Amino acid sequence: RLQEALAELKGNIRVHCRIRPLLPFDDEAQEPVSQNSSVSGGVVHAVDDETVLVECNRPGHPLINKTYTFERVYGPAESQRAVFEDVCPLLTAFLDGYNVCIMAYGQTGSGKSFTMLGPHCQEEPALLSEPRGDTGIIPRAAAELFRLISEDASRSPELDVSIVEVYNNDIFDLLANDSCRVASGVKRQVLPTQQGRKVVCGLTYQSVRSAAQFLTLVGGGLQLRAKQPTAVHAESSRSHLVITVTLATATSPRARSGRPSSPALQSDRSVSTEPRRPGSRLPATGRRQSPPVPPRTCGHRLRRAAPDPLGQVHATLQLVDLAGSECAGVSGVTGPALRETSCINRSLAALSDVLGALAEGRGHIPYRNSRLTHLLQDALGGDAKLQVIVCVSPGQRHVAETLQSLGFGARAR
Ligand code: ADP
Repeated sequence: RLQEALAELKGNIRVHCRIRPLLPFDDEAQEPVSQNSSVSGGVVHAVDDETVLVECNRPGHPLINKTYTFERVYGPAESQRAVFEDVCPLLTAFLDGYNVCIMAYGQTGSGKSFTMLGPHCQEEPALLSEPRGDTGIIPRAAAELFRLISEDASRSPELDVSIVEVYNNDIFDLLANDSCRVASGVKRQVLPTQQGRKVVCGLTYQSVRSAAQFLTLVGGGLQLRAKQPTAVHAESSRSHLVITVTLATATSPRARSGRPSSPALQSDRSVSTEPRRPGSRLPATGRRQSPPVPPRTCGHRLRRAAPDPLGQVHATLQLVDLAGSECAGVSGVTGPALRETSCINRSLAALSDVLGALAEGRGHIPYRNSRLTHLLQDALGGDAKLQVIVCVSPGQRHVAETLQSLGFGARAR
């Protein structure tokens, strides 16, 4: 299974593109379009499984005819199941000790939450736990992870979950149980370690033993996620949602199967925000916090070091629903919302810089330029596996944002 899964993972960064269907709020009917433009399907087309065409032929506007290629392109009719099946091998890789990140990028209303969570889950988080045909990657991944664990009696990993949102470049802990809880969770400090890395302190981790437990936590976190209506989409998410699952398992599955250990296994790749102590055991539903001041080893990368003294393997899985990538002019925002937008744009630009640097194989990767890239640092780079799903709307009036999103995806490859 592992070999099959890894064979499917071409390289460490894969970029997929998903074109959602044209929807009533795209309001294409009010847009004057030329006869040659495919109005019913919008202006963005899946030419084949790997190619997107943006074709815009509107009188009075510059002609656009651009193609982009990605590892996989999903047209508007592709199912949630098809999208999930392509990311599924990453879950096996995670259980085998790789750091993995699956993220959705795109403008507000392009289908990021639909893809990651499922329809209407932002508004009604309880839907996450309902068995439905159109659920998104996160509920499917939860079910698949625990299915894989139950299938293999030799796997007995401990899984801990943290849920944070990055809002205005601050990190809010959406699992904190503090009395001083504010509308969108408890703000956590980011402090430097002696090794010069920055780590989030006091973050809450909750151990999970079932998909149902996991999804209940995610649902609770979603209820706290900050939202700000914009002109583009009434329920626009103005924060990045980062769900981190950490795995600790007593023996190495890769060692058991006789394969040589990879750098990820040999490194202390435990999530930088949380100093899990080797061998620490948690109650079945224990909630705990990392210490307010990072211990000496907090966030310290020990590349090519041996597994920890108890032979535990650590890995992280990060599931990320990024904030909308639209520019301020399009959203029609001013005042505090403008600050939100500029924070979002800065953090997405920092993410693009990191992915661009990784794609080009540069020595220096600028992780430190934003909270978002700090948080994702362990899942970006090294032999971590990153899956980016660029979501785009097919609507003509979104074409500038669509080109920007496709450009982001192209830069990351
Ligand atoms: P975002 O998270 O990028 O702001 P959403 O996921 O909320 O966007 O999607 C915006 C709207 O489009 C929602 O009503 C959602 O249900 C719908 N939608 C998005 N993608 C699809 C799809 N592939 N099929 C059907 N509806 C979709």
